[in-house]
Parts: sequence; C-alpha cells; structure tokens
Amino acid sequence: NSDMILYTNFVLVNFETRQRYIVKDMLGQGTFGQVVKCSIPETDHFVAVKVIKNQPAYYRQGMAEVSILSLLNNNFDLGDNHHIVRMLDYFIFRNHLCIAFEMLGPNLFELIKLNNYKGLSLNIVQMFSKQILHALVVIKDAGIIHCDLKPENILISTSVKPAEIKVIDFGSACMEKQTIYSYIQSRYYRSPEVLLGCSYTTAIDMWSFGCIVAELFLGLPLFPGASEFDILRRMIDTLGGQPPDELLRLGSNTNRFFKRIGSIYSMENDAMCKRISNTYQFLTEEEYEARESKKPVIGKHYYNFVKLEDIITNYPYKKNLPEEEISKENRTRLALVDFLRGLVQFDPEKRWSPLQASFHPFVTGEPFLCPYRPPQEVPQIPVIRAVAVNHNPVEGHWL
Ligand code: ADP
Ligand code: MG
Repeated sequence: NSDMILYTNFVLVNFETRQRYIVKDMLGQGTFGQVVKCSIPETDHFVAVKVIKNQPAYYRQGMAEVSILSLLNNNFDLGDNHHIVRMLDYFIFRNHLCIAFEMLGPNLFELIKLNNYKGLSLNIVQMFSKQILHALVVIKDAGIIHCDLKPENILISTSVKPAEIKVIDFGSACMEKQTIYSYIQSRYYRSPEVLLGCSYTTAIDMWSFGCIVAELFLGLPLFPGASEFDILRRMIDTLGGQPPDELLRLGSNTNRFFKRIGSIYSMENDAMCKRISNTYQFLTEEEYEARESKKPVIGKHYYNFVKLEDIITNYPYKKNLPEEEISKENRTRLALVDFLRGLVQFDPEKRWSPLQASFHPFVTGEPFLCPYRPPQEVPQIPVIRAVAVNHNPVEGHWL
C-alpha cells in the first residue's frame, strides 16, 4: 500500500519551515491518499492535511492541485472573497506530498442527508448558488476547469462567517488550454459534451453547477443515471430535445448512444436551405443492447414527473406554508426552473457563463417577471500571470 500509516498524534513536518502538524482525526480517504485533521502545536488551530500516496502519478496530480490552487488563491482571490478553499502549505514528508488547507466543516451532500434527502428551502438554495457562482466566476477567469463539481466537494465553513461555503478538491482540475483527459466529472454531474466524448470548456462546470442547484432543492440528484446511457436518456426526457447535431457530429462516443437518421431540409427561399429535423436519434434499450451486446444499466426513478418544469413545480412544499407565502414560493420555483434551463442547457455554447448566471433573478432576489435573457459576454483578452510554485520541493531541506 502506498498510503502513509497515520495515527493519532503522528507528526507531519515541513522541514523547510519547521512547521509541525499533529494528526488528530481522519477526515477522508480516497484513491489519491488521505485527508487528516491536524492541530498546530502551541495554538488552538486545526488544519486539514491531504497526504498523497507516494507514487509518481499521484504526486504529479497533487502538484497540479498545488499549482492551480496557488494561482487561484494568490492571483485571483487574494482577499479570500470568492468561496474557494485556502491552501496554507505544501511539503514533502517521507516521500509523500502533503497539502495543508484551512479546516472546513461538513459537505453539502452530508447536509442534504441530514435533512433526510428532502431538499433545502429556496432561500438557502439561492444563498449557496450565489456563493458557488462567485467561485466559478474566478475559476473561469483564471482559465481553469474544476472538472469535479458535486455536493461532496462543497464544504460548509466552520469559521465565524454564517453559512459560508467553499469549493474544494482541485485534484481533477485542469487549465482550459490543457484538457488532456476525456473521462472526467462524477457521473450524475457529467456534462453532455463529456459523455459524448467532445472537446470541452469551462462550461462543463456550469452543467455540474445546474445539477447541484437542482439537487439542493430536490434532495436527490436531478439525473441519477446508473450508466452513461441511462443518464443521457434522463437528460433527453427531462429537458426535452437532445444535444445539438453539431455536438453529436464531433463526439467520439456518439455512436454508442445515437443512430444516424439523416435530416429533413426545407427550402426557406431560393438561396437558403434550413434543416428542420435532427440527424441523430437516441437508441432504444433494444437497439443499445444489439449494438453493445449488453443491456444498458437503468437506475431507479425518484420523481413522479419527468419534465424539469413538472418536477420542480409539483415538488411537495418543505413545510406548511401560509397562504400568502404560497404564491411567493411558486413564483420563486418558476424563477428556479428558468435558472436551471440556462445551466442544464445541452449546447455548451448557449449555456450561461458564471457571470451571466449571477445576474439571474433567482440569484439576485429580484422579482421574476419573464424568461431571463443574459447580457452578452464581452470576450476577454486572457491575462497570463506567473505563479511561483516550487515544483520540486525537497524533503529535509532546512532553511
Ligand atoms: P478526493 O479527491 O478524494 O475527493 P478531497 O480533496 O475532496 O479529495 O478530500 C476528500 C475528503 O476529505 C472531502 O470530501 C472532505 O470530506 C475531506 N476534506 C477535504 N478537504 C477538507 C477541508 N479543508 N476541511 C475539512 N475536510 C476536508
Ligand atoms: Mg472530493
């Protein structure tokens, strides 16, 4: 096993600064290694330390997390105003990369579970949405894709600020200009372009964000697909429509899920021909089985309705609402549907950016009167900024 053996009062040391971290508790364990709660001697402070397995691939991924977080923390969010976890230190101890973070509390999945999977009230969903968007604005500005946004990776702060949340786990993140991996994102939160095997952008984080917002309200995942086939079918059923032909044409996985049917064109006028039907059709379960020689795995259905509008508007009220609050609740639900429509939008080009989404009435709290039209994005000239990260921290190098 390439995990370090850790136990209570085990001491991790950054030999360069002589900072000691005393292990107190286990916070999480995964393929990358372990996360432990540590105390800092002579203070009453705790930090979370991610102790990465001592294998080259995990080390490299861990150093990528270090680079990305130092770029975000130091170049885009110096004042800690954007709900992104703070990295406090990193060092090598006994051949293991260790990354120290500010200590945070339970994650949003644990909060949903505590609430018996009944979902959170709309004002809490709105408050969390606003904070996650603050993080996503900065992440996109930095040219970074998080690639693993989900309730488990959003933690509630335990500091004095009331109900603050922070985005964590940049262990799968990449620069938008360097999208190397195609098998990314956790399944329920995986965007259509990733499922189809297309190239992808920061818009994949906005898809995941939409799924998270819906889940905070519903208490259960919006697209709890048991397989990639199942999740695509749920998207098509719930959203109505399907990924645009342009996306399907470019997807390296398209023919696992769709068949080509050829499209119908109509003559607009002498010069213009307009396509009026899709070129691809989603496979039936039987067609999928014939193609892949195995039955598609289909999961349970949690909702009494299929369409997004119906799922949200018919969802049971969280508590007995007085008459005067019912109409407000219903209007806010309509705002939520309109908000989600801009996020879980098949076409990544049309999907709203974090900045566009942050002006939506659901987020700003303004009255929702008509479908939201986002302001046009002004194309940004990318700013190249240097970050100082020591890519070869040396164990035992004393200052
Ligand atoms: P993984 O790649 O395994 O998902 P994470 O960075 O998400 O790694 O950390 C794994 C788990 O450790 C988290 O889900 C959370 O429970 C816990 N954890 C991570 N960072 C912190 C933190 N700063 N404060 C408290 N708990 C944390
Ligand atoms: Mg995680």
